Amino acid sequence: MQTSLRLAKKNLDRNGFLDIALDSRMDIRTAIANLKRQKQILVLAHYYVHPDLIAIADHVGDSLELALKARASEHRIIVVIGVHFMAETVKVFNPDKKILLPDFNAGCSFLTACPAPEFRRYKEQYPDHVVVGYIKSSAAFKTQCDIICTAANAKAIIDHIPRDTPIIFGPDKHLGHYLKKVCQREHMRVWEGHCMVHETYQMEDIQTLQEQYPEAITIAHPECPLPLLEIADYIGSAQQLLDYSQASNSNTFIVAATPGIVRNMQSLSPEKTFIQAQPIASDSCNDCPHMKLNTLEKLYLCMEYELPEIHLDIHIMEDAMLPLERMMEIQV
Ligand code: SF4
Repeated sequence: MQTSLRLAKKNLDRNGFLDIALDSRMDIRTAIANLKRQKQILVLAHYYVHPDLIAIADHVGDSLELALKARASEHRIIVVIGVHFMAETVKVFNPDKKILLPDFNAGCSFLTACPAPEFRRYKEQYPDHVVVGYIKSSAAFKTQCDIICTAANAKAIIDHIPRDTPIIFGPDKHLGHYLKKVCQREHMRVWEGHCMVHETYQMEDIQTLQEQYPEAITIAHPECPLPLLEIADYIGSAQQLLDYSQASNSNTFIVAATPGIVRNMQSLSPEKTFIQAQPIASDSCNDCPHMKLNTLEKLYLCMEYELPEIHLDIHIMEDAMLPLERMMEIQV
């Protein structure tokens, strides 16, 4: 590897990731394994990334799980194979550690739909409301929240808030409207953000699959639109869906969740059939384009140069940690 650190930083500023040509004869998996060992790097991967990357990771999980794994480890350098807000959350939990993300362009439609300054102006109109923020958000957004929730604990968090207290929920409108319904919260304002992947799953497509596979159980992530959730047999976070598919006596599932989760389900229960919900009569890809920016090459370069690194203002980290701690006091 000939490129100097100074040139690598320039390259990073230009691209958002290290776009440096690798020797085509390199055995990249072995090279990554060597870097992991030599530099004592912990590699964390989200469920939605490519199986080649999952195979390399020390831990696979959702954003909170990865942040907690990082905090429990002795490693000083941690790579998050996922998207930007996940790496930020890991940094908030681990302010003294070096947190790396292979490609800074790996964003999320929740972030573009909910800039923190805009959200602050919105919530300032309702000073008597408790602000519940979804963990899939930037650190700056979290500083505007009273308490954070995950897809797994969102109902418990909302139920913990006194019934007569008005709530603002953001940034996911689908999860927000679902919670409003199941928690029977009349006074709940919902920010209109959405996950660009789960948004593509529609009730009509699921109905078509249900007619085709009448024996199948329909399971869905709560980021899907509410009409779809209303015809699902089970609704849960990525981990809850995985657990449910393993524990269930059923052999066939229609899954309204990302292909990454479906791949995990299939590898954990190879004898079962998982039918990915995707728009019928359409060849549109429903895999997350942000997650797909992670590659073996970028992971290798990120570990070699220890770039791109997540940097957050200390006050942002402290203020973002408060609503996360409140969540953990109630339920993880
Ligand atoms: S799957 Fe949805 S929520 Fe996750 S990173 Fe992609 S756009 Fe964001």
